[in-house]
Amino acid sequence: MALTHEFAWSASRASNFKECRRQHYFQYYGGWRGWERKAPRERQQIYQLGKLTRMPMVAGDCVHQNLAYYFRVKHVHESSPEEILKRSLDMLRSKYMESQNEEWRRSASKFTHLAEHHYKEDVVRDRDAVAEYGGEHVGRITEAVNGFFSLPDLRWVIEAPTEDYVFVEDDQTSYDAFEFEGTKIYGSPDFALRDKKGHVHLYDWKTGRPSRNDSFQIHVYALYARIKWGVPLEEFSGYDVYLREGEVTPCMITPETMSAAEDEIRRSIAAMRELHFNADHGMGDREPFPQIPADSPEARACRRCRFRELCDR
Ligand code: SF4
Repeated sequence: MALTHEFAWSASRASNFKECRRQHYFQYYGGWRGWERKAPRERQQIYQLGKLTRMPMVAGDCVHQNLAYYFRVKHVHESSPEEILKRSLDMLRSKYMESQNEEWRRSASKFTHLAEHHYKEDVVRDRDAVAEYGGEHVGRITEAVNGFFSLPDLRWVIEAPTEDYVFVEDDQTSYDAFEFEGTKIYGSPDFALRDKKGHVHLYDWKTGRPSRNDSFQIHVYALYARIKWGVPLEEFSGYDVYLREGEVTPCMITPETMSAAEDEIRRSIAAMRELHFNADHGMGDREPFPQIPADSPEARACRRCRFRELCDR
């Protein structure tokens, strides 16, 4: 089926939209079809920048993919914490090398391209800096994997029989979608299982620090659970698992907080739809998607933005 540009919503798109409209334009409109050989050079450039990632995200992804692997193969092979840690660290090294060797030039969607390399950031300026920065992320992964295997609140999850699993994140592609009031919503949970009473427990693995968006994200998963699995709110619990801190934080979900989250989703969809256009028909007008003013405190987001060369930041 031919790929067409369509409107979709996700919690991360919403947060990106809130942070900077121009960034949203680049990510979801400007770079559309930039993977095609015949695409205009500008689209190709925006698409390639949109694929940039950063080491903390890569490290988090390595942990996520290997926890998914742990659950997926458990019925045939019980992995040790050492094996999961080794796989995660090997993956981190291999992704770093892909970026350093510029393998992304062959395929921006298949190979890692680090913003740290693209923007020649200080953390990769010489051997010592690379060793220090790499060591930091090896430490992050080690803490996260050790946290997973040693958290008492996760013991029952680790020991649960595989037939109790409701959902295990795909270790190749982490996208899943459902429809909410006519809008496609992207959002794929990490892991969910059903206890003996039929109650569903959903876990979101975190390798970074707690953020204000975490509870909202769990509400989006509660919606996913209701729409995709038919699980009513009273039979659902969601948890943010801060692996490095060793904390399992239950999300307080009530009918009132759920209804507030759904209203928030509706508002966000409406605001995004107002600016939506079909990127198959051209690059559109970027004026309705303003940049963050360079002299505002919010412009600190530009320092970490993958598109900063397009904004001269
Ligand atoms: S560099 Fe700043 S203004 Fe430009 S897209 Fe990124 S966040 Fe927005």
